[in-house]
This record gives sequence, C-alpha cells and structure tokens, in this order.
Amino acid sequence: MVVIGAGQAGLAGAYHLRRTGFEPERDFVVLDHAPAPGGAWQFRWPSLTYGKVHGMHALPGMELTGADPARPSSEVVAEYFDAYERRFDLRVRRPVDVTAVREGAGGRLLVETSDGTWSARAVINATGTWDRPFWPRYPGQETFRGRQLHTARYPGPEAFAGLRVVVVGGGASGTQHLLEIAPYAAGTTWVTRRPPVFREGPFDEGVGRAAVALVEERVRQGLPPKSVVSVTGLSLNDAIRQGLADGVLHRLPMFDRITPDGVEWADGRRVDADVILWATGFRAAIDHLAPLRLREPGGGIRIEGTRAVADPRIHLVGYGPSASTIGANRAARAAVRDIKRLLTEEPVAA
Ligand SMILES: Cc1cc2nc3c(=O)[nH]c(=O)nc-3n(C[C@H](O)[C@H](O)[C@H](O)COP(=O)(O)OP(=O)(O)OC[C@H]3O[C@@H](n4cnc5c(N)ncnc54)[C@H](O)[C@@H]3O)c2cc1C
Repeated sequence: MVVIGAGQAGLAGAYHLRRTGFEPERDFVVLDHAPAPGGAWQFRWPSLTYGKVHGMHALPGMELTGADPARPSSEVVAEYFDAYERRFDLRVRRPVDVTAVREGAGGRLLVETSDGTWSARAVINATGTWDRPFWPRYPGQETFRGRQLHTARYPGPEAFAGLRVVVVGGGASGTQHLLEIAPYAAGTTWVTRRPPVFREGPFDEGVGRAAVALVEERVRQGLPPKSVVSVTGLSLNDAIRQGLADGVLHRLPMFDRITPDGVEWADGRRVDADVILWATGFRAAIDHLAPLRLREPGGGIRIEGTRAVADPRIHLVGYGPSASTIGANRAARAAVRDIKRLLTEEPVAA
C-alpha cells in the first residue's frame, strides 16, 4: 500500500495502518514531496500563530500539549508531526514526489514517483490542497505593474508596509489578511465575488456537522468539493466585528478588469494598487490521479465514505468533507478499515 502525503490525513492513515497490523516499509510506504515534517502547515505564514488557528485537532494517539500560542503554527505543528512520525516509527520517505498513479498488472496500481515506482494494492491519497492554489483569471492581469501573490505565498503583514493592497476573496484567509495588513498598508480594498455571509454564534459541533454534510452531498454527486467557509459563512468574532466597524472589512463587488496601475469596474470606478493579494482558495491536489480517470463529468471525484466509486483501491482522505484536521482523522480510520476489508475479503467462488 502507498500513502501519498504526510500531512494530518496521511499521518493519521499511517497510524491506523500500523494499529491494524500493517508494518511500515514492509506493507506500506508513506511518500511526501515536502522537504520536512509538517504537511502544509510548515509553509503557513509566520503571523499565523498557533493561538490563531481555528481549532486544530491532534493526530490520533498523541496529544499536542503545552504549545505556546504565540509561536507560529508552522513551527509548532512541524515539531509535533516530527515527534509523531518518530513515536510511531512511520518512516515517511521525503522528498518523494508522486507524479502519476496508473493501472498496473494483476489488478495492482503503479505509483510513479521521483524516486522510482511502487506497485500497490491500495492507495490512500492524502495530498491536501496547499500545492494547488487557485488563481482566477481577469482581463488585463498580465499588464499589472505591481505585485500579485496568492495566500500560499503570503509572507505576513510587514511586507505590505506603505503599499496599497487589493485583497480578493471572501473566505477566512482574505479577512485575516486584511485585518493584519491594514495597520501597515497605505490602504486596503476588499473585493469578493459574492457578498460575504457572517454568522453569529460559535462554530460549534452542530454547525460543523451541517457544513460537512453539505460538502459530502456535493462529493457524492461527483461535484468538486467546496470549502467549509463557503457553506458555513464567516464567524463573527471580535476581530471581524472590529474590522467591520472601522471599515477595513468594507467589501466591494469583484472588479471587472486589471489595469497596469490597479483594478477597474465596468462603471468606471477604479482603485490604484501596488499589490493584488489573491485569497481565492485552493483546489484538491490530485492531478497525479488523472491516468485513472476518476473524475465525473461534474468535475469532482465521486466518493462513498473515502473510497473512489470508480476505483475501490483509491481512498481520498482529507478531501472534500474530510478536509479538516478532525475530518482527516476520522476519514483515515474509515479508509484503513475499508482497505483491510478489501484486502482480506475471501475471493468469491466462481
Ligand atoms: C491557512 C489555513 C489554515 C487552516 N487552519 C485550519 C484549522 O485551524 N483547523 C483545521 O482543522 N483545518 C485548518 N485548515 C485546513 C487544513 O489544511 C486541514 O485541516 C489539514 O491540515 C489538511 O491536512 P492534509 O493532510 O489533508 O493536507 P496537507 O497538510 O496539505 O498535507 C498534504 C501533504 O501531501 C504532500 N503532497 C501533495 N501532493 C503530493 C505529491 N504529488 N507527491 C507527494 N506528496 C504530495 C504535501 O507535501 C503535504 O505534506 C487550514 C487551511 C489553511 C489553508
């Protein structure tokens, strides 16, 4: 078996494989193309401190205790994942880039990588979304003389000191960027495609469960999954309330084109800008699965539980409804249970 990705989802998968009696390197390998432990967390911006993350669930079998909330989450989580990998002897191979998964001989899958090819009876795909930032295209984009960057390369607010910044995107990243950048920047403008929806009350289990159910339904229909914020709305916390009160979170509709000096709307309104920051989200990093042709006409991969309906050897963990730390943990357990059943099933007599 091959586990692709060693973020929350992949490590939880490896943990459950071990607990089920499978041995790393003998029965399964974990491959990750990042240089070090930490999954996508290792790349998150320094001002995203551990205290600011929305609620990171620990990996199964080992709590994350005593972390300093003022430290960057990138460091805290990378250290925790590193300790976890060693504690459970998961032997992650890195950096190993998986380039393609295709049909092999005898009902096996071939996992092609930068470090050779593995033959596998099952694959847990846990590649997250961080490697596939989504950049929408707008007319004139290539003419912009300033800097354009995506959340995936957000360096923290100090880099925007004295600059005029347009932030695009109505999700959690967009609002966090604005609130951080505003005290440093010469000016900020917030544009979103749809008016943002703010939600009163805590993000409790009921809200989470309802959001997951909505994303689950999309995936069951073979549609591309949506982010959880797109179905829950933005939580009205103190920082957001303040941003709304002082105008930092004053939202404009999406501009119609980009000019060399900024952005412009069809009615002639324009805003000059030095930077356009695209907080426009991520898509599932699953291009390496393309040879298996799992995608439905709707553009997504239809899954039941974690199993791809079109190919029961492929499990997607951390995809769609399980794209959260708690969701990844649960999905990993379910995937391993399913794989064990698949591998130990008695062949039916002809
Ligand atoms: C800014 C931000 C903040 C977030 N905060 C929270 C939060 O507070 N709480 C929460 O529950 N969730 C949060 N999330 C969602 C979060 O990303 C997930 O909960 C979780 O960390 C994702 O884990 P994962 O294992 O699915 O993906 P990742 O952590 O992205 O791990 C995927 C791994 O796969 C590897 N990989 C990818 N492609 C390949 C390939 N082709 N070959 C080899 N390796 C590959 C990558 O190197 C990476 O290590 C946040 C997301 C973002 C963007």
